[in-house]
Amino acid sequence: MVQPAAVIQLLDPHVVNQIAAGEVVDRPASVVKELVENALDAGATRIDVRVEEGGKALIEVADDGWGMGPEDLERAFLSHATSKVTAVEDLTHVGTLGFRGEALASIGSVSRARIVSRTRDAASGHRVDDVEGSVSPVVPAAASPGTVVRVENLFAHVPARRKFLRTPGTEMGHINELMSRFALAFPHVAFRLAQGKRVYLECASDESRLRRIDHVHGADIASQLLPVSDASGEPTLEAYIGPPTLTRRDGRLEQVFLNGRHVRDRTVMHAIREAYRDLVPPGGHRPIAFVFLSCDPALVDVNVHPAKAEVRWRDGSNAHRIVRRALRNALQQAAPGKPIHVDGGHASVERAVAFAFEQGAGRSPSVPFGGSPSSVVAEPSPVFRSERAGEACTHDAATSETQRAEHLRPLAQALGTYLVLETEDAIVLVDQHALHERVLFDQINTRLREKGNLEVQRLLMPLVVDLGAAATAQITEEADLLETLGWIVEPFGEDSVAVQGVPAVLRRPDPEAALRDILDVLQTGRRDGLDRTDLVSATVDSLACRSAVMAGDPLHPDEVMSLLEQAEALDHSHSCPHGRPTRLTLSRGQLERWFHRTV
Ligand code: ADP
Ligand code: MG
Repeated sequence: MVQPAAVIQLLDPHVVNQIAAGEVVDRPASVVKELVENALDAGATRIDVRVEEGGKALIEVADDGWGMGPEDLERAFLSHATSKVTAVEDLTHVGTLGFRGEALASIGSVSRARIVSRTRDAASGHRVDDVEGSVSPVVPAAASPGTVVRVENLFAHVPARRKFLRTPGTEMGHINELMSRFALAFPHVAFRLAQGKRVYLECASDESRLRRIDHVHGADIASQLLPVSDASGEPTLEAYIGPPTLTRRDGRLEQVFLNGRHVRDRTVMHAIREAYRDLVPPGGHRPIAFVFLSCDPALVDVNVHPAKAEVRWRDGSNAHRIVRRALRNALQQAAPGKPIHVDGGHASVERAVAFAFEQGAGRSPSVPFGGSPSSVVAEPSPVFRSERAGEACTHDAATSETQRAEHLRPLAQALGTYLVLETEDAIVLVDQHALHERVLFDQINTRLREKGNLEVQRLLMPLVVDLGAAATAQITEEADLLETLGWIVEPFGEDSVAVQGVPAVLRRPDPEAALRDILDVLQTGRRDGLDRTDLVSATVDSLACRSAVMAGDPLHPDEVMSLLEQAEALDHSHSCPHGRPTRLTLSRGQLERWFHRTV
C-alpha cells in the first residue's frame, strides 16, 4: 500500500459546524433544548414553543427576553459567538445555561433557520437567516420585543442524520419530556408547548414548585410528595420526594437539577438511591424524586459534556452527603415511630411498612385475590389495612408471632411463587423469594457483624470467568474487600479471573452473574466515595437477592418448613429487605365478610 501524500487540511468552517452539530444537535428535542436555554439566558418570563411533525418540519421558539440588536444578530449564527463567556477563567464559574457559542451556528448549518428579534428599548426589530450554513445580511423586520427563532427542515440536507430521526410521535415525546423538565426547573417562567392544535403544556408564570409538579405530572403524584429542604450547606437543596410505596419501573420521575440545569449526575442519583435504601426494592424500582440543587457555579464544572448533561463536582462526597441525609431524614420524619438508621438495618424496613400505612395502604401491592380491582377499591383492602396496622404498631409489643407460627401448616405452592399456609383461623400467603431474601439478609448481616467476614465455600475446580481487562484489574484492587465478602478470586491472564471460592450463602448456580453484580456495586460505590462499611452493606443487598430462591423455583415441603422456621427466628420477617411485604394474611373474619357470611 502506498502512503497517501500527507495532506492535512483545515476544515472549512461550514464542515466544522456540521460536525459540531452532531455533538450539540442530534434530534429535534436537542434543538428545542438549546433554543429554550437561550431564551432563559436572555431573561425571558414567557416561552412559547411550536412544533410540526415532531420538530422535523418546524420548531419555533418565541420568548419575551431582552432580544438582540442588529450587531448581535450579525454574529448570532457565527460559531464560537457568545455573549456569555469571554475568558477561559469564565469557564470555571458559568452562571448561564449556554456558554459555548455553538448552538445557533450548529443549528443553522443543518436546517433553514431564522431569527427575528427586537431589544426591549428598540422601536422595531431585525431579522437574519441561516440556510444550511449561509448566513444572510441582517434586515429590518416587524417584531415585538423578544426573540423568535424558527428552525425548518432539520437535517433535510444531512441524510446521515435525518435517517436517525424517529417517528414524529417519538420525537414529540422527547420534546414533551424536555419541556416538562424546563417547566419544573423554572417555575417563575410561563411555558407553552403546542403542535398544531394540540397543546402539550401550558403553565402560567410565577407558580410554586409544587404547583408546577402538579401541573406537569398531575395531582395524583404531587399530592403524595414530601417537601424537603436543606439550606445549611452548599449545595442547598429543595426536593419533592415520593413515599417508598410510590415507585416507578423507570427513572423518569427521578430528576436532578443543578442551578436550573437538568443533569444526569451519578453522585446525586446514588445519594437518592442510598436515601431509599431498603425502603424501595432494587432492580428496577425507582422512587419518585425531584431534587433541585443550587450552589456557587465555581463548585461544579459544567464543561465536561457537549450537551452539558453531566457535571463534575469539586467535592462530590459533600454533595452526596447533603442529598442523602436530607432525603433520609425526611423519609424518617414522615412516618413517626422508631428511629431509622442511616446505615440501613431493620428499623428502616419497619419504617417502610409504617410509611406505607401512613400513606394509605390502598396504594400498596394490590390484593385482588380473584376479585376484580373495582371490588378491591370499593372495599378498600381491609386485608392490608389490618395486617399492616398490626405490623407497624405491634412489633414492640412482642406479639405472639411465634406461637402463631407453630400452627402454620403448608398447604401448597401457588403460581410457582406463593406459599399457601393455614393457621387455626387464617390463610397465609407468603412470597417465597421475598421471605428467603429477608432471611438471608439477616443471616449475612449477623455474620458480618459477628465475624467480620462471610463464610467461604471453596470450589473443587476453579471457575474461570472472562471479565474483560478493566474488571480483572478491579478484582486485583478489590481482592481484600472481596475476601471479606466470601469471594476468593485471582487474576487469570489479562482479562479473566479464577474464582476459587464463593460466599457459602450463595446457593444459586450462577456465581459469575453474582460476581459481576458485586463488581458493579463496588465500582459505583467507589466512584461515589463510599467508605468501606457502606461498600460492604451495599453489596449485601445484591448478594441476598442473588442467593434467594426465585419466584418460580419449585420448593420441597421440607424446604418450605425450614424457610418458615428460619423466618420465625427473625423479628421482621414481615417484609423483605426492600420493604416489600412478604406475607398476606386472610383471617377467618375477613373471609367471612368477603363472602358475606356475616352481616
Ligand atoms: P451560547 O448560548 O452558548 O452563548 P448560542 O449559539 O446558543 O451560544 O447563542 C449565541 C448568542 O446569541 C448568545 O450568547 C446570546 O448572546 C445570543 N442569543 C441567542 N438566543 C438568544 C435569545 N433568545 N435572546 C437573546 N439573545 C440570544
Ligand atoms: Mg445557547
